[in-house]
Amino acid sequence: MKIDCIRTYHLRCELKAPFGFSQWYYGQRNVLVVEVVSDGVSGWGECYGPADVIQGCVEKFYASRIVGMNPVATDAIWQHMWRSSLDFARAGVMMAAMSGIDMALWDLKGKLLGQSVSELMGGRQRDKVSCYATGMYYLDLPEDKLLPALIEEGLTYAQQGFEAMKIKVGKNLEFDEKFARALRDALPNTELMADSNHAFDLPEAVRIGRVLDELNYRWFEEPLSPEHSHMFRQLSDKLDLAIATGECEQTRFGYQKLIAAGGVQILQPDMAYCGGPSEALKIRALASANGLNCVAHVWGTQLNLAAATHFLASAYPEPGRYEEKRLLLEYDRTENPLRDDIYEQVIDVKQGQASVPTAPGLGVSIDSEAMKHYLVSKTENKA
Ligand code: MG
Repeated sequence: MKIDCIRTYHLRCELKAPFGFSQWYYGQRNVLVVEVVSDGVSGWGECYGPADVIQGCVEKFYASRIVGMNPVATDAIWQHMWRSSLDFARAGVMMAAMSGIDMALWDLKGKLLGQSVSELMGGRQRDKVSCYATGMYYLDLPEDKLLPALIEEGLTYAQQGFEAMKIKVGKNLEFDEKFARALRDALPNTELMADSNHAFDLPEAVRIGRVLDELNYRWFEEPLSPEHSHMFRQLSDKLDLAIATGECEQTRFGYQKLIAAGGVQILQPDMAYCGGPSEALKIRALASANGLNCVAHVWGTQLNLAAATHFLASAYPEPGRYEEKRLLLEYDRTENPLRDDIYEQVIDVKQGQASVPTAPGLGVSIDSEAMKHYLVSKTENKA
């Protein structure tokens, strides 16, 4: 077996309604999808980050270096890509490019070997994975209208069967506190998390964290800048709830530093960015060795969602116990036609539970005709 061809597809769509979080507003969605072909079989992956830039990384750098290699040898290919670019690509968009290639290789390996990705990851430990709804982003409304709209959105997720959901904080402290309280009042029994997307300095994070503690939120995500990992321990010392972070972090080497700095209890590698499923497994082993849990960050299309579903299906909560602690799958509910309109087979989520695909590979399949509608540019590298 050898890799015959690598293609990339930059897909883009304009959104009907822009939505925002602590850093900016989204008006469109972009993704870079990677297709790796061997013997007429295609494996698919996606990359997180600026699609047009990452497209160049795949096409101009990595693809020509791995075409012809054995597609089943995922670790060997990863090491080859890593060593080929180590001097200038230990992190950033080139690692995002490696991530999408690696994800496509896992899909392809599963298809070639007749195994689902969770089986390849060590075995499916559960057939369904509990999801949390990610939503309640900011809309272009005055705050007195925004707050009830967000609460209404949260109630909709609860009606759909989600027992857990995550809000955005980091707009401003007054609104953040009001929002966190109003949602807890509306949903007294729902598992709630809050994500600031690194919007706070330490005193602000302590203030909001204490509110979240009082309201029994499960975790406080990205309370601080990833550049100031030494502050996480100071924050954690003042709070009871778990601190979650890592979606901006990459590779076992990056995570090792994050873990060593302390104060973080939940690590969130994104398989379209952290180095791919190959590297996420190594990050998980590192987390386990330090008594921590990995919960994949998911933002993108069905490919990343499927990779995360398999990752959680094969996960072992740290520490284990008979009545298992649920490691929640992030299920982004914001508008995204690139997630919802270009797949023939998707991750089936009902009543807040994702069914783990049993088909070979990732278990989701792209509709090539539907994808063309969103295509900005395509590349191809052949043997
Ligand atoms: Mg986040």
